[in-house]
Amino acid sequence: MQKLKAKIRDIPDFPSPGIVFKDITPLVQDPLLLKECIEELIRPFKQESITAVAGMEARGFIFGSLAAWELGVGFIPLRKPGKLPYDVQRIDYALEYGTASLEAHIDAISAGDRILVIDDVLATGGTARASCELIEHLGGEVVACAFVMELGFLQGRNNLTSYPIHTLISY
Ligand code: IMP
Repeated sequence: MQKLKAKIRDIPDFPSPGIVFKDITPLVQDPLLLKECIEELIRPFKQESITAVAGMEARGFIFGSLAAWELGVGFIPLRKPGKLPYDVQRIDYALEYGTASLEAHIDAISAGDRILVIDDVLATGGTARASCELIEHLGGEVVACAFVMELGFLQGRNNLTSYPIHTLISY
């Protein structure tokens, strides 16, 4: 998967000074590599009876939707507040500075659903952990979390010790 690294570019000082943003747009513009990436993301879960994929706004929508398509299941968008039109369940979580929230439709998940959570980047793990808790509040079971890349130096796995983690590349 080293080919993936060649298609992920560093953008210094985005979105704020001192942050080096991993930009996945060159990867998603490469059709063959994108297909390979999705196949590798779902490979460990093909026999896990996944009933839906959940993805976090916004880049989790890209990888999550394609993974859902490949697995033959539906996709559940986990959105920033105020974006979903129907009744929602919301979770608030801490960021390094401040807080953030995610919402899901209350009828997006049924008891016993087996959910694969997908996002582009595992950084501190706060977003993924909140996503897993939101899914559990709605009665779903989180089978695993899968990410295209992991920023290992931020030790996000420590925030997700209750769930299997699958990542394709690590920095
Ligand atoms: P965490 O909650 O700190 O793990 O941050 C993960 C969330 O922030 C994910 O939804 C990512 O899409 C986003 N994110 C954090 N760092 C980057 C980056 O360098 N590139 C793209 N997205 C990032």
